[in-house]
Amino acid sequence: MPIVAIADGFPQSVFDAFEHAGWTALDGTSWNESELFDHLPRIDAILVRSRTKMTADRIEAASRLRIIGRGGVGLDSIDLEAAKSRGIQVVNTPGASAIAVAELVILFLLALARRLPEADRTMKEELWEKKNLTGGEVFGKTLGILGFGSIGRLVAERALALGMDVIWHDAYPVKPGKGLENQCRKVEFGKLLESCDMLTVHVPLLAGTRGLIGAGELQRMKVGSYLVDCARGGIVDEAAVARALESGHLAGAAFDVFAEEPLGESALRRAPGVIMTPHIGASTRESQERVGTDIVRKIIENWQPASGRE
Ligand code: NAD
Repeated sequence: MPIVAIADGFPQSVFDAFEHAGWTALDGTSWNESELFDHLPRIDAILVRSRTKMTADRIEAASRLRIIGRGGVGLDSIDLEAAKSRGIQVVNTPGASAIAVAELVILFLLALARRLPEADRTMKEELWEKKNLTGGEVFGKTLGILGFGSIGRLVAERALALGMDVIWHDAYPVKPGKGLENQCRKVEFGKLLESCDMLTVHVPLLAGTRGLIGAGELQRMKVGSYLVDCARGGIVDEAAVARALESGHLAGAAFDVFAEEPLGESALRRAPGVIMTPHIGASTRESQERVGTDIVRKIIENWQPASGRE
């Protein structure tokens, strides 16, 4: 029977589902690098999130490996070329964490507009500072959505319910889907930057999207606008955002993802108007269950033993 290593945190239901299907599920969440390398040659499948990177040397060491399951969307943590050259399948769970991320984006938009972190901080410092905490409403403001896939569209639905005007840009000819065609507008990339009061980024990290929002793009945004990044570190130039916040060009920015994770020394820590979270976009109980159920089903459905092996 196949052996699957569960390398990153997944709910108990994932272990139970594999065992129910007759697989042996190894808990690899506390393996260090050398323990991981000890186990790699004996596993048939591996289940990861974004923490465990499936690099070329790890794929090389996993001589029996037939399938890599990524609980989540982004495949930037997997060396797809190395997997392909060995005929290893890679499956992920697009859409399973989309609601969780979309809700975090809405939380960020409102928290930025109402200066929630500053208000909270003053209370904990035993101040009652109302006069410097006047915020804005998102109602009637224009939200620009970069990347109109699963998450971008869920953000659009929620922003429309808050009375925002929604414009979006996608590099590919995507269909907005029922209910969204008439309520939001597709625009060119430059127009998106120039027209929105708040910009939220939902493209994957690819060679073509690395550094997509840099100093030049920020400069094209309105003075006093906001930026939210819950996509992937590396798409937005964090140092350029810190400078735009310092100069007052941006009024605020929220980041859930960073070029370096965990975040090391960063100008963002000192920049005004920043909200940061440690890559918790998909971290809801509901999303974890959905991701777990989807990824186990996909691994089992796509499982093909190597020829000559049971
Ligand atoms: P998706 O594939 O459904 O949508 C991505 C969209 O981006 C697609 O419509 C695609 O056409 C578009 N796109 C690609 N390149 C582009 C470009 N250069 N310019 C404009 N549009 C472009 O993916 P999704 O499920 O919506 O997720 C989006 C990203 O969110 C993921 O790739 C992942 O990196 C990130 N994510 C983050 C978290 C988190 O914890 N913060 C959780 C899940 C996903």
